[in-house]
Amino acid sequence: MPVHTGIYRKTASFAAVFLVFGFFCGAACAKERAVPAAAAYQKANVILIILDALRPERLGCYTPSQDTSPHIDALAQRGVVFTNAFSQSHLTLPSVTSLFTSLYPFVHQTRHIFRDSVPEQAYTLAEVLRLQGYQTAWFGYLRDPHSGSAPGLLKGFEEGVEIRPERIFQWIEQNGEKPFFIAVHSYATHEKDFIGNQFENKIFARIPKSFLQKVEDARVNGWQGFQSDLRNKREGLYDFLGKDWIEQNWDLLMEPYSAERYKELMYRAPQSQQKLYMLEAVTGGLEKAFASYGEEATQGFLGFLDSALFDFDQNYMAGLHALLEKKGLDQNTVIVITADHGNEFFEHGRLGHLGPLFDESIHIPLIFHLPGHQESVVINDLAQSIDIFPTLLDLLGVPIPSQVQGISLAGVMADSPGANRHDYVYGQSVGGLLYIRSRQWKLILPGESLCYGTDTGAQLFDLTRDPQEKINLIAKKTRVAAKLRKKLRDRFGLCNDKKLFARPGN
Ligand SMILES: [Zn+2]
Repeated sequence: MPVHTGIYRKTASFAAVFLVFGFFCGAACAKERAVPAAAAYQKANVILIILDALRPERLGCYTPSQDTSPHIDALAQRGVVFTNAFSQSHLTLPSVTSLFTSLYPFVHQTRHIFRDSVPEQAYTLAEVLRLQGYQTAWFGYLRDPHSGSAPGLLKGFEEGVEIRPERIFQWIEQNGEKPFFIAVHSYATHEKDFIGNQFENKIFARIPKSFLQKVEDARVNGWQGFQSDLRNKREGLYDFLGKDWIEQNWDLLMEPYSAERYKELMYRAPQSQQKLYMLEAVTGGLEKAFASYGEEATQGFLGFLDSALFDFDQNYMAGLHALLEKKGLDQNTVIVITADHGNEFFEHGRLGHLGPLFDESIHIPLIFHLPGHQESVVINDLAQSIDIFPTLLDLLGVPIPSQVQGISLAGVMADSPGANRHDYVYGQSVGGLLYIRSRQWKLILPGESLCYGTDTGAQLFDLTRDPQEKINLIAKKTRVAAKLRKKLRDRFGLCNDKKLFARPGN
C-alpha cells in the first residue's frame, strides 16, 4: 500500500493550512489501495505531457475517426485511457497548480496571475521525485505568468527550459542514464497559439480558404481595437504596458496589422503583460466574430486546433517515441498525457475557457502509457488532475506526502476489488464558482450560495439525460441539489473559513 509518511518534513507545517481551511482527510485518504505491479515501475522515468486546453475528443484514442494524433494513440494502445477525467479548474494557473501539488484550488488558492503564488508549504510532484534522486526538468514557456514564471510552480525542477522538441530530445540524450522526471507544458493546442497560424499538414489543407480569410479579418479588426485603445487611453495604459515601451514603439503600434509587424512587436515586448495584451488584441475579437459565423466557425476553429495537434504529434511525439526506443528507455519510462483544462467551442455561446465550469472547460484527456503493458485499457471511472501526482508515486513505489488530496488510480487501473474510486470530483473557477460532479449529477454554484444556503447563481444538471448541460434543474431537483451542496460543504469544510466565501461587504 502507498504510505502516508512523515518523511516529508514540510508535511507538518502544511497540516496547518488544512486546518485553516477546515479540510479533514476523509475515508478516501485512509483506505488501503491496491497497487498494480508497483515494483515494475520502481525508478522508472516519468514524462508528463500537458497539452494546454486540449479536449479528449480531438485525439484519435478517444475518437477513432480522428487522424490527428497517431503517435499519442500508439502510446495509448499500450496503457490506460481514462474517459471521465476532469481538471480542478478552467484556467491554466489554478489547474496546473492543482496538477503539480495534488491540492484543490480552494486549498492552494493560486488563481490569479501576477498576484498569487503556489503555497510554499506545499510539495510539488517534482520536489518529491527530486528527493527520491530523480533528475528533473520542465519544458515550457519560461516567461508565461500562467505557468513558467508563476511563483513557486517550478519548485523541484532543476532546470526550466524553453520548449522546443530538439531541446527535450537533447536533454534526454544527455541525462537518460539515470532516472528522470520531465514535464512538458505546450500551448500548441491553445487557440491563442494556433489561430491564424499556417500549418503544412494534411489537416490544415482541409480548412476552407474562405474561413482562413475570415480569421485574418478578425485579427485585423482585433488589432484595430487595440490601436483605438492605445490612442484613447494612451496615458491610462502607461502603468500596465509601460510608458517607455509605448512611446518607443508608437509608430510601429499604429501601423496597420500584418503578421510580420505583430511578430516584431511581440519580439520587442520586454514583459509578459505587453505580450498578453497584444495576444488578446488579435484573438479577443475572434470570439465575437466567430459567434456570428455559426457552424462554419466551429468547424474552422477545430480545423486549426486539429492541425496544431497533428503538428505537435509529428514534431514532438514521433521524435520522442523514436528516441526512447533508440536508447532502450521505452521499457522503463511511464508517459502521462493530459491537458490542464478543456475549452468551449460555442456549446454555451463562447469560445475559450473563461466561462463557467461546464464539462467542455474541465473534461480532459488522461492517458498513462505503461512500459510492458501490451494492451489498451479504457476506464470510465471518474478521475481528476490531482490524481496524477499520487498515481505516479504509487506506480513508482514512492511514499505519498499527506498533503495530497487526489487518490492513486493505480488500484482502479488494476481493477483491484479494494481500489479507491471517486464518487465525486470537485473544482473551482478563478471567479469563485465551485463544482461537484458525479457520473450523473453536476452542481455548479458560487461559493456564497454554498455557504449561505441559497440557490442564487446555482445550476444543476442531470448529465445522463442532458450531457450538454442546457437544462438547469436547480428549482426542480431540490433534494439532489441539497445533497450535493452538503457533500461539497462538509467534505472540505469550505464554509468554516469566513474569509473564503464571505458575503460582499463582510
Ligand atoms: Zn491552460
